[in-house]
Amino acid sequence: MTNFHKILTVWYQQNKRDLPWRVKNDPYFVWVSEIILQQTRVDQGTAYFLRFIDRFPDVESLANAPENDVLKIWQGLGYYSRARNMHIAARQIMNEFNGLFPNTINNIEKLKGIGCYTASAIASIAFGLPYAAIDGNVYRVLSRVFGIETPIDTTMGKREFSDLANELLDRQNPAVFNEALMEFGALQCTPKNPDCNRCPFQNQCIAFAQNKIAKLPFKSKKTKVTNRFFNYLFIRQEDYFYLEKRVGNDIWRNLYQFPLIESTKALNIAELGLNEQFQSIFKGVEIVVDSISPEIIHVLTHQRLHVSFIEIMIPKSDISFPWIKVLPKEIHDYPIPKLIDNFLMEKNMTK
Ligand code: SF4
Repeated sequence: MTNFHKILTVWYQQNKRDLPWRVKNDPYFVWVSEIILQQTRVDQGTAYFLRFIDRFPDVESLANAPENDVLKIWQGLGYYSRARNMHIAARQIMNEFNGLFPNTINNIEKLKGIGCYTASAIASIAFGLPYAAIDGNVYRVLSRVFGIETPIDTTMGKREFSDLANELLDRQNPAVFNEALMEFGALQCTPKNPDCNRCPFQNQCIAFAQNKIAKLPFKSKKTKVTNRFFNYLFIRQEDYFYLEKRVGNDIWRNLYQFPLIESTKALNIAELGLNEQFQSIFKGVEIVVDSISPEIIHVLTHQRLHVSFIEIMIPKSDISFPWIKVLPKEIHDYPIPKLIDNFLMEKNMTK
């Protein structure tokens, strides 16, 4: 389709949203916005972007920040490894690139956590380099307009879409082309109910002509989801409660949570009392189980968490546990998963 980028550019000029990272094509701003938008929609992502930029206005301030501060600003966005990687990459820029954001695709790709898509977005938007950035929006638009049924999660599919996007790319203006294509996917050719009636590609769109919109883009594999059972101990002792730091190669690494007993199935109060870990924690300690919350389901990309909060009072103050004793007003110092934050909010304990 020879006029693809012209049609797209006209649509973009008429529909483009004013977004804060578009004010100046600063590579740091582009980077931060791209990473945030990989896991959230623009309306929610904008607030996170503004908060992040306000706290860490440039690479240097991000590099110099303690990891806890970075995770705290990221709190609620999920995919915390992305925040940790950005923090490491900021230090890489300071140490290996004299504090200057690298301006070639090869060097941008050397930064921790930056893959082909993000590198292409930064290279094209901030430095005007001719690389097509292919995110989920782009896969969707191209698969529909060109009727491509090759699965997008295969090597062959990735190559086919990459070749096509780079062929269509407006090499004189790769930044506008990439932003326009992503915006088109986000606003016009949406996953559900795309606005085909007012679409400038309607006459050429193969998915529209062949009634295949709901089928495209095609994926070969279904995501396998693991069920996990989290029993959180919300232990109250005088005005305090306890937090532990999550370590190891698992979700929410380096975030803080209530002491956790993970089980292979949901436990009722009697079963919890018989649990070995529970017994060893409270051996010889007088406790009062105040309440058990109903099961909360928390869905992550590959995991479905079944979560209960067990509220336990420890009447004696001279007993100590191997965790961090925290006053409610100190919770702001700790990055915590949204799940824990929601629980504390319900208890009015985050103010
Ligand atoms: S006609 Fe519909 S499916 Fe095709 S590109 Fe336009 S919005 Fe997407």
